[in-house]
Order: sequence, then structure tokens, then C-alpha cells
Amino acid sequence: MSKELETNLTEEEYLKKHLESLEQNKAVDSVESAPKQQTTVKVEQSKASDLHYFAFDTREFPCGIFYPAGSTIQVRAAQVKEIQAYSMVDDNNFYDIVEKMNDMLSSCVRIKHLDGTIGSYMDLRDPDRYYLIFLIRELTFQKGSVLTTKVNCSCGNETTIELRRKNFKFYETSERINDFFDVATLSFRFEIKTGQVFNLAPPTIGVQKSFTEYIVKENAEKRKPNLSFLKIIPFMLHDRSSITIEGIKAKLDEFQKMDDIPFQFLNSAVEKLTFGIEKLQSQCQCGLEIHTDMIFPNGPSAVFVVHDAFEQFIKE
Ligand SMILES: [Zn+2]
Repeated sequence: MSKELETNLTEEEYLKKHLESLEQNKAVDSVESAPKQQTTVKVEQSKASDLHYFAFDTREFPCGIFYPAGSTIQVRAAQVKEIQAYSMVDDNNFYDIVEKMNDMLSSCVRIKHLDGTIGSYMDLRDPDRYYLIFLIRELTFQKGSVLTTKVNCSCGNETTIELRRKNFKFYETSERINDFFDVATLSFRFEIKTGQVFNLAPPTIGVQKSFTEYIVKENAEKRKPNLSFLKIIPFMLHDRSSITIEGIKAKLDEFQKMDDIPFQFLNSAVEKLTFGIEKLQSQCQCGLEIHTDMIFPNGPSAVFVVHDAFEQFIKE
């Protein structure tokens, strides 16, 4: 019973949260329906050799602490054909935004471990998604084509902030929580008074993708997903890169049989585990620090589509 009481979000609100929507992102406020079909994303590794990847230290990323020591995240610029595919994103359809971003990540991102093995974008943490997208953008448009947003400083000046990595301010977990980080499992390890132990971490992009497919399927079959389950369980699958629909159903069954204390604990704990880009931060000419909410100026499509390219490139 208490489980139902906790789910005061609508299904759509939850989905957006689940898929890590940017808060206050006007562009995705009005998602009407799920797409009728899901496309399967395949990692294109065959062509990777002739494209130049840049290696980035995992510690630069919002979820840096969750990657094995010595790993690097390898990212390359988007090719024209990838930009062409992305340019068809429907800014009003949240599923489509996530899908197109996943396609882009699948082409341009991989993780290289210390032992030389390569993992795909699905092994990366979901709250790193936007950071990765903006990183690909920076590599793709090295000259010009800067995305900006405006902020009013208390001195009266209107200052422009560029959407670049250096201006991204990440969410920070409290010291209270940080004490529970377990280096051996790269997750937070919580032992509760009942004696149960839970390891929690933000889910991988792969797990979120599995859950998205599950939600779409449930919707198509006119079943209402258990929102509380969707909020908590992905964090408990901290060491996985995917889960089957049957696997999710088995987890749902376990979840519904859970006692009240562990449920209450988990529900409260996952709320403390927010990662990703919290806001944009810069300095005004007057010296004051200025910040604003993270947004997509002109919608998510504008990340790789040059705004008003007609006017920019027409020769008169
Ligand atoms: Zn100022």
C-alpha cells in the first residue's frame, strides 16, 4: 500500500525522470505518445579503426567514480551521416530524443579498460548521457557554431554562457552519502538495520535502454508500469549493462514482495543519488558567479543541427 502512495508522479512525468530529462526543458514538456516501434541500436565497431577517437579521463565525467580505475572514455566527432540521422529528431517526443541520442552515442563513444578490452556506450552511466552528447558536439564543431544561453547577473548585465564542458556544474552527493561509497564494487553499499545490504549506483545507459523497451511494451499492451519499481530497481542493477524483459518481470515480482523497511529505505536512498549536469555556471564581467538551469537552446535537435543554417550559409 505504501508503495502506491509514494508514486505521486504521473506515468509520463516518471518516464521523463526515468530517462533523465533535463529539468525545466520546455522542449520535452509535452510528450504525447510512445513511438510505435523501437529500433535496435547496434554498436558499430567495424568502422571504428579509420576514425579518430580521443581518450578522456573517466574522472571528468559526472559519473566518473563509477568507472573502473584506468579506464578511458573514447569519443570521436560525428560524421555527416550521423548528423543527418540525428537531425530528424522530434523535439516533442521524448522517446525519440533518447533514441536518437543513443544512436549518436553508439557510433561515437566507447570505453577502453585498463586490460585493453573495449566496452560500448551501454556500459556508460545514464547520467553521463548529456555530457557525452555535448562532448561529441565539441569535437564535431571545433570552429564556431557555439550553443549559448543568456543569464541576467545581479549587476544588471546580461551575460552569455556557452554550453561547453567547462561551464557544466555537476550534481554533488552529500558527504553523508559519500562515506558509503564502496571502491570494490564501484557502488554505494548500504547496510540497513534489518541486516540487509544494498549496493546502489546510477544505472548504465544499457539498463535504462532495457527499461525503456519494457515501458514501451507495457504501454503497448495497455498495462500501467509500476512507477515506484521503475524509480528504484535500475539503481540496484548497478553492475549490469542490460536486462531482458523476463528479467525485469522477475525483479518486479521480487520488488512487490519486499518488506516495508527496505522499500522505504531504498525509496529514500535513490533520491540522494542524483548525478549528471545540474546547471551552467560562468562568471560575469563584474566578477560575480552566474548560473542557470541546464537547457537545450532551440531544443535537443539543435545540438547537431546548425540553427538557421539558411541565413548563415546563403551567399548574397
Ligand atoms: Zn555581473
